[in-house]
Amino acid sequence: MVQILSDPVEELRSRMRGRVITADDADYDDARRVWNAAIDRRPKAVAMCETVDDVVAAVTAARNGGLEISVRCGAHNMSGSSVVDDGVVIDLRRMNSVRVDPEARTAVVGGGALLGELDAATQEHGLAVPAGIVSHTGVGGLTLGGGMGHLSRLAGLTIDNLIRAQVVTAAGEVLRASAESHPDLFWGLRGGGGNFGIVTEFEFRLHPVGPMIQMGLLFWDLEHASEMLRFARELVPTLPADENVMIVAMNAPLAPFVPQEHQGAPGQALLVVGFGDPDEHAALLERIRKAVPPAWEFATPMPYAALQQMLDEPNEWGRYDYDRSVYLTEITDEVIEVLADELPSKRSPLTIAAFYRLDHAYSAVADGDTAFSGRRDPCYALFLIAVCANEELYSAEREWVQRVSDRLKPLGVGRAYVNGLTDTDASTVAEAYGQATYDRLASVKRQYDPDNLFHRNHNIPPAG
Ligand SMILES: Cc1cc2nc3c(=O)[nH]c(=O)nc-3n(C[C@H](O)[C@H](O)[C@H](O)COP(=O)(O)OP(=O)(O)OC[C@H]3O[C@@H](n4cnc5c(N)ncnc54)[C@H](O)[C@@H]3O)c2cc1C
Repeated sequence: MVQILSDPVEELRSRMRGRVITADDADYDDARRVWNAAIDRRPKAVAMCETVDDVVAAVTAARNGGLEISVRCGAHNMSGSSVVDDGVVIDLRRMNSVRVDPEARTAVVGGGALLGELDAATQEHGLAVPAGIVSHTGVGGLTLGGGMGHLSRLAGLTIDNLIRAQVVTAAGEVLRASAESHPDLFWGLRGGGGNFGIVTEFEFRLHPVGPMIQMGLLFWDLEHASEMLRFARELVPTLPADENVMIVAMNAPLAPFVPQEHQGAPGQALLVVGFGDPDEHAALLERIRKAVPPAWEFATPMPYAALQQMLDEPNEWGRYDYDRSVYLTEITDEVIEVLADELPSKRSPLTIAAFYRLDHAYSAVADGDTAFSGRRDPCYALFLIAVCANEELYSAEREWVQRVSDRLKPLGVGRAYVNGLTDTDASTVAEAYGQATYDRLASVKRQYDPDNLFHRNHNIPPAG
């Protein structure tokens, strides 16, 4: 018989192999910290899980002790969903192993791994999982919400490459979810976030990528931003899947590759990444610069792993952040007008508006095949991201994102990418998924987490 101790933290300690960190420990502040500096929460305990058994133990002890649970992988979620006041953080960061099978082109990845760890292991074999564009993002949260980045056009979302997942449920059971085993759970995990359990292991399909790729960053000042957008909206949908273009309203980096007179200036950039023939990529850059000459550019071959780290520094830990996302089928004149109107009034040089192009492999998956919070027709996901180096600018920048997204939403196609939403209130979540996906998610939730134990997320309450 298992004895239940009256102090839930003591019960947690007695059940776990990994450390349990509390406010009495010197590293408590480090352990509870998340990427978004605007979030400051004080959990009762941080359970540093090392094994699946530890995760089962933590879930069981928290449930028995009536403590709220949050689940932490890379701690990037802007809402701070991975840390909870007075509850237990089930921290997976030690469960970060990556095992690659180069013959089968698969990787088995711990539920707490970071994208950089995944890329490092897969790139040893010239392989990759399509994922995000900042290496300190967690595989866990990114995958469960969808996962988009430079490889989305070529190889789909991260979830489109998920083969199976090992999941610890609210009841403390360890399940294997795949197309054959618990297919409803497998469907829900591919877009439904952390609602259904704790994923301790993901298995992904890999694609040949790099190791060298072609990178071109071209930049226009604000005066020429609308002209560039009008050109880009014609160009981008026509490009082959092995050329990815991100369109980013940003300030020019304070970097040596930027001519001094342009450093820090606001404008629009195209980040063009070629995964195929270098000559075709060079011809594409030439076509762009001839059509709309940029203020400056930086083009170079680089390792794919370096591309995946290129944006780490501007997105380093300790930023104050607020995000919203909108899907747009086209960059219409109205969209360009809103951006031309609003971009000059953003105040933080780190705040950006980034279009991810989604088509080709992304659109080869049917709408209802996964629980992804977006339609699969070719489109752009536009991320409006307020990023501030300090708290002073934060509330003005947050209002900027809210205002711009309120203006763009009526021009979009509905829904929103949950991983691009800081707000987690019920109506935002329901709207992001759309009625059909939301209802189906709610019935999967009723089956696997009827008491809504896992609710620190973009929450889907159980149906009924
Ligand atoms: C700098 C930055 C860059 C980003 N770039 C991209 C990008 O290029 N593409 C993109 O698609 N998204 C991107 N995102 C968004 C990112 O996908 C989400 O913020 C995601 O939630 C981060 O996952 P995480 O594991 O780091 O976060 P965490 O805060 O640790 O986790 C977020 C939530 O996910 C759930 N969760 C995490 N791991 C598990 C697990 N193993 N099992 C069960 N539930 C789990 C939990 O509910 C948790 O609260 C970016 C975010 C940031 C801050």
